Amino acid sequence: MTDRFLTGRTAIITGSNSGIGLGIARALGGAGADLVINSFTDSAEDHALAERLASDHDVTVRYIQADMSRPDQCRALVEQAGRCDILVNNAGIQHVAPIPDFPAERWDAIIAINMSSAFHTTAVALPMMRNGGWGRVINVASAHGLTASPYKSAYVAAKHGVVGLTKVTALETATDPITCNAICPGYVLTPIVEKQIPDQMKTHNMSREDVIAKVMLQRQPSGEFVTVEQLGGTAAFLCSDAAAQITGTSISVDGGWTAL
Ligand code: NAD
Repeated sequence: MTDRFLTGRTAIITGSNSGIGLGIARALGGAGADLVINSFTDSAEDHALAERLASDHDVTVRYIQADMSRPDQCRALVEQAGRCDILVNNAGIQHVAPIPDFPAERWDAIIAINMSSAFHTTAVALPMMRNGGWGRVINVASAHGLTASPYKSAYVAAKHGVVGLTKVTALETATDPITCNAICPGYVLTPIVEKQIPDQMKTHNMSREDVIAKVMLQRQPSGEFVTVEQLGGTAAFLCSDAAAQITGTSISVDGGWTAL
């Protein structure tokens, strides 16, 4: 891989104004890709972030507001971008509760944002990739796309669904110069994980330190959080020529979690 091997490509990354999406945007921008970053908000900070990324990486960056819980807005995001060589389906939310107490509205939102959005964006992106003669679809799933934990019914169902969608997308594009893969991270200390800590403290009746060590990192044999830079590097690798025959698979970046 040369340093700027994605020069001339455009990458759309959903849910990329923080956390893993932003880490992946930085890695792809660093490799020379023009970027479309996204969230459901439309704040001055969102647009300032786009400007900062553009100057940090010397690429074109647009911020496009779109709510990934809304099928029409998922599709409009890709249409508005106008070009899509790399699609990273990353937007996601979490809610933690036992099934009898799990609010139906949270179930619907998690299924829509974490799973169905990837279907809608992919549906619009694939014809663009075929026209452009090259494409990469990267779905940010989770170790919870391969294994389960109690109290995360919607999230685990959605992430298993994303892994299934990844396989179907790969089969439908197998004879095109397009690949589709899932990245399955273990725990990464981003806002989505920070927000779970108080709920987990309540559910398990534990301190913050104990939730991190005994609930979260207890599942991760390395005993360390995965970093957004490591996930950015994995996404960049999937966009390289070396990965051209890697399709339909799930790459675990989880400190050994799914080896247990
Ligand atoms: P995060 O909360 O920092 O990022 C989530 C992103 O999604 C944010 O940019 C947020 O604005 C965006 N988003 C949320 N709702 C949206 C909506 N309706 N429309 C558009 N954007 C929306 O969390 P993160 O950890 O960076 O999560 C990113 C992805 O990685 C998620 O799909 C998550 O499930 C997955 N993941 C995270 C971990 C982890 O430990 N942090 C582990 C495995 C998988």
